[in-house]
Amino acid sequence: MYRTHTCGQLRITDAGATVTLAGWVQRTRKMGGMTFVDLRDRYGITQLVFNEELDADLCAEANKLGREYVIQVTGTVNERYSKNANMPTGDIEIIVNKLNLLNISDTPPFTIEDNSDGGDDIRMKYRYLDIRRNAVRKNLELRHRMCIEVRNYLSNLGFLEIETPVLIGSTPEGARDFVVPSRMNPGQFYALPQSPQTLKQLLMVAGIDRYFQIAKCFRDEDLRADRQPEFTQIDCEMSFVTQEDIIQTFEGMAKHLFKALRGVELTGPFLRMPWREAMKRFGSDKPDMRFGMEFVELKNEDGTVNFFADKAGFAVLDEAQYVGGIVAPGCAVYTRKQIDQLTEFVKRPQVGAKGLIYARVQDDGSVKSSVDKFYTPKQLIEMKDLMGAKPGDLILIISGPDAMKARKQLCELRLEMGARLGLRDKDKFALLWVTEFPMFEWSEEENRLMAMHHPFTHPMDEDIPMLDTNPEAVRADAYDMVCNGIEVGGGSIRIHDPKLQAKMFEILGFTPEKAQEQFGFLMNAFKFGAPPHGGLAYGLDRWVSIFAGLDSIRDCIAFPKNNSGRDVMLDAPSCIDQKQLDELALIVKNQ
Ligand code: ASP
Repeated sequence: MYRTHTCGQLRITDAGATVTLAGWVQRTRKMGGMTFVDLRDRYGITQLVFNEELDADLCAEANKLGREYVIQVTGTVNERYSKNANMPTGDIEIIVNKLNLLNISDTPPFTIEDNSDGGDDIRMKYRYLDIRRNAVRKNLELRHRMCIEVRNYLSNLGFLEIETPVLIGSTPEGARDFVVPSRMNPGQFYALPQSPQTLKQLLMVAGIDRYFQIAKCFRDEDLRADRQPEFTQIDCEMSFVTQEDIIQTFEGMAKHLFKALRGVELTGPFLRMPWREAMKRFGSDKPDMRFGMEFVELKNEDGTVNFFADKAGFAVLDEAQYVGGIVAPGCAVYTRKQIDQLTEFVKRPQVGAKGLIYARVQDDGSVKSSVDKFYTPKQLIEMKDLMGAKPGDLILIISGPDAMKARKQLCELRLEMGARLGLRDKDKFALLWVTEFPMFEWSEEENRLMAMHHPFTHPMDEDIPMLDTNPEAVRADAYDMVCNGIEVGGGSIRIHDPKLQAKMFEILGFTPEKAQEQFGFLMNAFKFGAPPHGGLAYGLDRWVSIFAGLDSIRDCIAFPKNNSGRDVMLDAPSCIDQKQLDELALIVKNQ
């Protein structure tokens, strides 16, 4: 037996016991004739004591221990003279009488403690050392607990966990596929699933009724802080359900997870907001509802609001399709420099605005703005009243020739102001469902309509007649769950009628032959009694990162990839041998 206890286990009640521990040397300190060693394992840290007076040879051995050496010790549990209230084992120490060196270690490239001196790159290269740190390991523990909770919750509701293959054909979700060449079928490729979408639908045709899977998904897209080329979904599908049934089921699961993993009780039904309303009020299909600062429209694309109807000789607003603003409470005191910073912020390429108009509401209710010379004081006061601004507030206005783009810019500004004002508290949770998404969006790049969710999404029943006449106005029977401005899950009711599915492919620009070639398997299956069905997928990594209070999903993944899609620890992707290329019938162009 290597050990009788773990390094996080012993307490004052164990004093006097003889114990054996094993673990890694976190630190050694020599003080006079005593050597103290912090011994670490997954469960905690225990202080070891070697006393020169009791055993000089043993103490000399201890003095040779380096950081991350692996040792086994036997000794007696002793009450500590100076206790450490910050450690669960801080009341005791082990007076060691036997030391067994199990392995030596090179000096680690960064300190393996809660606050490490290692930068991101080095920590990723030596991720196995990084995971020895509490900060990372506890995220993996949280992830494990989340998976257990999900499995139990869904299993209790009759969901079956079923694995689907990873080597499949293309499943379009709007990103590029990762492909795998087939040796046995030269010149042919598998695609890795962007999600198990079509497979879970086939399981519904198969009569499984309730399916879930904690599934790896692969999407070859440009990476951002919260994206990984491979990520994990809690993927679910149900038969004989409406949108309401799905929302009820998964809202229940979300509440359960918050309670079980964060001790947070979310009461009452989640807010529901149609996509159009979310865009108009917050400029986003994933609004952060932890704070207000809603948009006020001063001019919009359908002409229902046009506050600056009379041309004022100010082209920026005269010619804009959209003018909208937010009120930053108490920010009239912002200095010129602070306002310049905000202007710089909205002009960054990621935001893309041309500029920012501001107006300070003075104590007497008058308005001092960057557009004073174009508008009368009366007009500006009317604008302030329309915006609901009070003395001391700062009005920030964005305008632009394309209303949707301008709204997205204003959304970035709202989030920035929310952060500056400390309104985006990580311990506060605001969840909602966004519904009634447009079925299609126009792709400039492809010059065709694309499915906003995916091509298997059912249109809202009342909008089906518009598929032929005005497809862009058709709304989807789709829904996203949003938490704190992050999409944590999404899904839809699916098409189960082969004719409607064929029509959908046609609208998306597939010829009947191409649709048959790519999705024949699904349309054929639908000929054999497909039940009405629908589902959703939660992003597991994002949920864990929200529960762990992290900004990125990276630190809740054991071995993540960096922003260029590389695993720097494994040094992947990498070149393969000519022999392998030949076997796969592949020729690699010289780069
Ligand atoms: N497969 C979808 C996705 O990955 C989720 C769903 O519709 O169930 O976004």
